[in-house]
Amino acid sequence: MESSILVVGSVALDSVKTPFGQADEVLGGSATYFSVAASFFSRIRVVAVVGTDFGDDHAAMFKRHNIDTDGLVRTDGRTFRWKGEYSYDLNEARTLDTQLNVFESFEPTIPTSYKASDYVFLGNIDPELQLQVLDQIEQPRIVACDTMNFWIDGKLDELKRTLRRVDILLINDGETRMLAGEANLVRAAHKIMAMGPRILIVKRGEYGVLMFNENSIFGAPAFPLEEVYDPTGAGDSFAGGFMGYLAQAGELTDDALRRAIIFGSVMASFNVEKFSLDGLSRLTRTDIDTRFGQFKKLTHFEAL
Ligand code: AMP
Repeated sequence: MESSILVVGSVALDSVKTPFGQADEVLGGSATYFSVAASFFSRIRVVAVVGTDFGDDHAAMFKRHNIDTDGLVRTDGRTFRWKGEYSYDLNEARTLDTQLNVFESFEPTIPTSYKASDYVFLGNIDPELQLQVLDQIEQPRIVACDTMNFWIDGKLDELKRTLRRVDILLINDGETRMLAGEANLVRAAHKIMAMGPRILIVKRGEYGVLMFNENSIFGAPAFPLEEVYDPTGAGDSFAGGFMGYLAQAGELTDDALRRAIIFGSVMASFNVEKFSLDGLSRLTRTDIDTRFGQFKKLTHFEAL
């Protein structure tokens, strides 16, 4: 049977400005990027809330990718909005505005059909909501989690409570240092692993990722691209490729984790090549596997 991943996170209307263009109120959000990326590998179930301004054209993206939206609630109010901009090096988003809107009063109820999900991705959202979702899942095999400075700043205690129940944490390098209160990345990683996650994935933008495991560290570069337009959602599409592949593989061996890191990097690379969700939405599994092969060549070397 095809494995299923339950994701909770934001479904958003984003306004984004990069040195190469801008988009206003386009479909985005952590759960959206994650779901579309992961849908190439596994069945995806979304838990999130949207407002009355969320149109059928937005919902079509989920339908087109066979994403189960039984847990996507529509309620009175406005959809979550995020406004951000990137400077020339594109490595870090500057948040200009965050409007939680319908997420402020959201109390997620997990549909019965979702309760037996083996894989859970707690996308970037209020850590209290992440916990409420986790409490309703019967016996997840693997729980992965993302977060950001907004929550490390505003809800540290709640976040630490979530982390105790997480197997894999994915965050960027700045957030790693901030969460650990430690400048050295390796020491910071070990401090965070002592908070709960046995695997930590540190995202470093165009410099790639580092995965810290119980007894190994794996590093992968970002795929070298000539065209990078919009990094929004890079982290979530990375997580989508990573979790999507892990769920498809059905095992958590070091080999599977390393391959998952490369599938994550592949999905992030497609995502940043175009604006908004355009880089992911028209992909085929062949495109993905071809770039996976190119990654193998990029990083392969022979032992002495
Ligand atoms: P990333 O993969 O980190 O680039 O995530 C980008 C997405 O995160 C955007 O589409 C935003 O809508 C969403 N986002 C930004 N800030 C928040 C927040 N505080 N909570 C939840 N989602 C957010």
